[in-house]
Amino acid sequence: MAESAWNDHRWVALPSISGVQRADVCVVGLGGSGLSAIHALLKHKLVVIGIDAGSIAGGAAGANGGFLLSGSASFYHRMAAAVGVERARRIHELTVGEIASMERSMPDIVRRTGSLRIAHDGAELDDCELQFAVMRDSGLRVERYSGPEGSGLLFPDDGTFNPLARCRRLAQDALQLGARLYESSPALTIETGTVTCELGKIFSRHIIVAIDGKLEVVFPTLKGRIRTARLQMLGTAPTVEVNVQRPVYARYGYEYWQQLPDGRVVLGGFRDRALEQEWTHSAEPSDAIQSLLTQFLRDRIGVQAAITHRWAASVGYTPTGLPIVDEVQKDVWAAGGYCGTGNVIGALCGKALADEIAGKDVAGVRSLLSA
Ligand SMILES: Cc1cc2nc3c(=O)[nH]c(=O)nc-3n(C[C@H](O)[C@H](O)[C@H](O)COP(=O)(O)OP(=O)(O)OC[C@H]3O[C@@H](n4cnc5c(N)ncnc54)[C@H](O)[C@@H]3O)c2cc1C
Repeated sequence: MAESAWNDHRWVALPSISGVQRADVCVVGLGGSGLSAIHALLKHKLVVIGIDAGSIAGGAAGANGGFLLSGSASFYHRMAAAVGVERARRIHELTVGEIASMERSMPDIVRRTGSLRIAHDGAELDDCELQFAVMRDSGLRVERYSGPEGSGLLFPDDGTFNPLARCRRLAQDALQLGARLYESSPALTIETGTVTCELGKIFSRHIIVAIDGKLEVVFPTLKGRIRTARLQMLGTAPTVEVNVQRPVYARYGYEYWQQLPDGRVVLGGFRDRALEQEWTHSAEPSDAIQSLLTQFLRDRIGVQAAITHRWAASVGYTPTGLPIVDEVQKDVWAAGGYCGTGNVIGALCGKALADEIAGKDVAGVRSLLSA
């Protein structure tokens, strides 16, 4: 993965794990989902060790579009048709609550701007109308929108953030609260009660594996239920050519962009234009998608500023649009497959697994979110 626009190079690397260590719970994967699980486990007074193969949020969690979107990966009306209005509404409300909680805990990193879904053509505008009607029927906040970006819908509860900064803050806070976190420590084997790394071994009653992309590499039994795709982005130098107030999701969400407070524009998309090639475990940007992004930036968004960053990362897709949040072996739990929108729902899944392990998931959030 080439470097994302979020990295300010201010992170001091954590050590890798060595020797034999013991914990109540070992969390494998220190992106937003794993770190959210760790905080919930610490609240339950459990002893936690977290390991990551690379660095904190070194995967998609630190290299994404920075959108905080309510709901699941599928537009609300489609999820409601698939799983029922009641379940879709509960999921939506949980995500709205999670965005609010993220803003409360890190107001310097999270901005509650709302987000836009912009229609590509008349057919998509009709689809926006349908979504509007179904969301309003469910009592959810949505507005019709028309502005410089185009026409579609505005979701006032959504927001934006620097995903890498948030994960780094979560990791620092977790360390202060007593979690032991290790970077450059890939789990080589994961079995009930034991996680083995090259130079260390962790004995823990429970294991949470919070890996979105490539989860099926760690657990081959999940092949068929989850598939890894590459998503690509680029970032520009600061510019005043545009004034984009809110994150924008366009053409059914295939393209997405936002302008950061310092004027930089980050843009992703076009996975569907090379669908077969993008079902890959590679996290390197490709020329084909990057040239589509460049053209879109120049012609559609109207930004000629220099492109300073190009990057890609892996995410997991499930057929249902809902993630896997399952016990894959006894006392070994896996979470992933957020279908390209895991910043909020991934955090909820991490917390739900922590609550389940602590015997506190009384509201049944894990099964509510699970595919
Ligand atoms: C370009 C792009 C744009 C996106 N835009 C958005 C967006 O705007 N909004 C949104 O909600 N979502 C977005 N997503 C999706 C979102 O980034 C992910 O769903 C989410 O970040 C997943 O976080 P995670 O913590 O579950 O997993 P990951 O980020 O996949 O983290 C898993 C961690 O596990 C580690 N790991 C892997 N294997 C091992 C092992 N064997 N041992 C130890 N550690 C291991 C990895 O190093 C990694 O750090 C985007 C994704 C991409 C790629």
